[in-house]
Amino acid sequence: MRLLVTGGAGYIGSVVAAMLVNGGHEVTVLDDLSTGHDDAIPPGARLVKGSVDDVGAVLGEQAYDTVMHFAAKSLVADSVEHPDRYWHGNVGGALALLDAMCAHDVPWLIFSATAATYGEPASVPIEESAPAAPTNPYGASKLAVDMAITGYARAYGLGAVSLRYFNVAGALFGSDGRGYGERHAVETHLIPIALQVAAGAKAALDIFGTDYPTPDGTCIRDYLHVTDLGDAHLRAMQIATPGEHRIINLGSGAGHSVREVADAVSRVTGRELPVHEMGRRPGDPSVMGASSVLAATELGWRPTSDLDTMIADAWTFAQRNPGS
Ligand code: UDP
Repeated sequence: MRLLVTGGAGYIGSVVAAMLVNGGHEVTVLDDLSTGHDDAIPPGARLVKGSVDDVGAVLGEQAYDTVMHFAAKSLVADSVEHPDRYWHGNVGGALALLDAMCAHDVPWLIFSATAATYGEPASVPIEESAPAAPTNPYGASKLAVDMAITGYARAYGLGAVSLRYFNVAGALFGSDGRGYGERHAVETHLIPIALQVAAGAKAALDIFGTDYPTPDGTCIRDYLHVTDLGDAHLRAMQIATPGEHRIINLGSGAGHSVREVADAVSRVTGRELPVHEMGRRPGDPSVMGASSVLAATELGWRPTSDLDTMIADAWTFAQRNPGS
């Protein structure tokens, strides 16, 4: 298949692009390199440096079978401070993409969606039928894109699958030894920050909130290895159906608290992990966890890597890419 991967120079996009190339697909990456890295493009994929707003020019060059759309802004706190960036960037970019796909008859779309669309869940595990009630502009912008995709699919026959990710960690290592992992200029996520502490680049891990109604008082999240996530994208290509927009959660179904993650990072890296107990971070739900029933039935998918493997792979990647 010939695919366009928007945002394919970013963390998840580059992992999926590498898995697609490895699977024998022809891959073009469209990325403005605002947060991505050109050396994250897998050998064999073509990079077009540009904005998703101009995706029409790329889709007009040659016939594509599928677009995988990762290009987006994804920092929750930033979205609260600068909602315009998320509405214009995430929604505007996706609308430009949908219009261009219709104009150039690209039949299939896989969208990088998010659990942030659910907001504070009424019950866990979260099923896809749970009400969408995002608590920040990031989640709202991604929900708006999901709603636009539903309308375009029904009206114009697009076959689309949205994959709503929960927490993602780990890295991919190719048979050529290349690594694809997380390298964010602004890092806000728990596992990479804990690894910075393990590496000695940061003095201590701040634990945001120890008074949640959970067994150890810290928040529980559902972590998934990025290669399991990539596998789900490859499977989603097989089930896309004209005129339908399917929405599928991707999580492991197993939750880990912040303290459990900190312990695992210390165990896996063999390093001390000093922690500071802090107040709650605004907007954090106490527990997030995905129902993986639909992913299993629709995609025949189940995660294969546990938390320690995610941390070990992320640690290997971080050590090979110090300071990034
Ligand atoms: N967290 C923390 N310290 C950090 C970063 C995150 O205690 O330095 C907590 C955060 O409050 C949340 C969990 O770790 O409960 C996962 O946060 P992350 O930002 O990785 O993902 P999110 O669940 O917000 O998407």
